Amino acid sequence: MTEKFDVLVVGAGIVGLAHAVEAARRGLRVAIVERDHFCIGSSVRNFGFITVTGQPEGETWRRARRTRDLWVRITSDASIPIEQRGLWVIGRRKAAAAVLEEFLSTDMGRECRVLSAGEIQQTLPYLNLESAAAVLYSPHEIRIESRVAIPRLAEWLERVRGVRIFWGTTVVDVQADRVLTNFGQIHAERIVVCPGTDLTGIIAPWIADLSLRLTRLQMLRVKPHDRLDVPSAVMSDLSLVRYGGYTARKASAHLMNQLAAEEAEALEAGIHLIAVQSADGTFVIGDSHHEQRAAQPFASEKIDQIILRLFAEAIRVNEFDVVERWVGTYPVGFERDALIRAPHETVRLVLVTSGTGASTAFGIAEEVFEAW
Ligand SMILES: Cc1cc2nc3c(=O)[nH]c(=O)nc-3n(C[C@H](O)[C@H](O)[C@H](O)COP(=O)(O)OP(=O)(O)OC[C@H]3O[C@@H](n4cnc5c(N)ncnc54)[C@H](O)[C@@H]3O)c2cc1C
Repeated sequence: MTEKFDVLVVGAGIVGLAHAVEAARRGLRVAIVERDHFCIGSSVRNFGFITVTGQPEGETWRRARRTRDLWVRITSDASIPIEQRGLWVIGRRKAAAAVLEEFLSTDMGRECRVLSAGEIQQTLPYLNLESAAAVLYSPHEIRIESRVAIPRLAEWLERVRGVRIFWGTTVVDVQADRVLTNFGQIHAERIVVCPGTDLTGIIAPWIADLSLRLTRLQMLRVKPHDRLDVPSAVMSDLSLVRYGGYTARKASAHLMNQLAAEEAEALEAGIHLIAVQSADGTFVIGDSHHEQRAAQPFASEKIDQIILRLFAEAIRVNEFDVVERWVGTYPVGFERDALIRAPHETVRLVLVTSGTGASTAFGIAEEVFEAW
């Protein structure tokens, strides 16, 4: 291939697409090389939940705020529907309510609010709140349907922004001014490598000093027999001992002790509830977390049953069917939520090493180009 680009991105997941969006916005000539014929990685297996509240204070929270704003702009430009807005966190236990109250008093909680018992009954008929000690509402979040949004964003980049995408093409080596693919070389001034979970391929020498692993998650899609519309994403007590924005609160340790006694199996499997709804009325629910060097493909029914129980405890659904099940993975084991490295002056590696890529990718991409 004789064409030469200003920026070449490896990987058409959300992290690669975000870098292509940012490079194109800067007027650069951009190409993406993606080994699959369409994205099947973490970016289409997730909840599509652009989460701000609950993200760890500092870098990740800041990037999430910025990314949410950029998602809103891009959904409008690329005609990607926003399926839900906001987040309800149901604090069932008093200890969970204490975490929520403490969160509210931080800078991150400034625009959130905790609902009174009276408000709860009136405004949230779709949630199971009989025994809830408190419910936090966050206005920051949006939810997109990833399996629709990611291909649409790629298509918009090609059609409107003139980004060239080489689908079904694998990068086998990265050099300072070119990549070698299984179909030949592509030259570029700068190269951004966003390979997602591929830790053993081209980037292996660049991360040899780290012991990154993969965490594997189980996810389900359920269809209630009677349609019910939930306008915001839903989380509950177990999320408050998982997300850094809550675990940093003093009250979280007390909640953890209580959950260790009452929800030992869920904690053991790294389960907490996120439930988001799609336009067709189905809910995407999850998830569990198991860290492994390579991700086992086998999903456990026992884990799915715990996730389904937590869903039925949180949302007023009488009967529902499971219509899809899948597993997904993301890299973990780095001290920060994202790893950005410069193996060469003209090359950047960008790896989101936490479950926050959909929520932080646009913010990260902006920072990468700003600093380059
Ligand atoms: C089940 C699950 C739920 C999640 N929920 C959320 C959520 O709700 N909110 C949130 O913010 N985050 C969530 N996350 C995390 C988020 O999905 C990831 O952080 C994000 O998708 C990572 O994007 P990526 O582009 O790095 O990876 P990917 O989407 O995996 O994309 C990487 C791409 O690189 C390509 N590639 C790799 N090597 C090569 C090569 N040599 N040549 C060519 N192409 C290559 C791959 O084929 C792949 O398409 C979730 C993750 C999972 C697994």
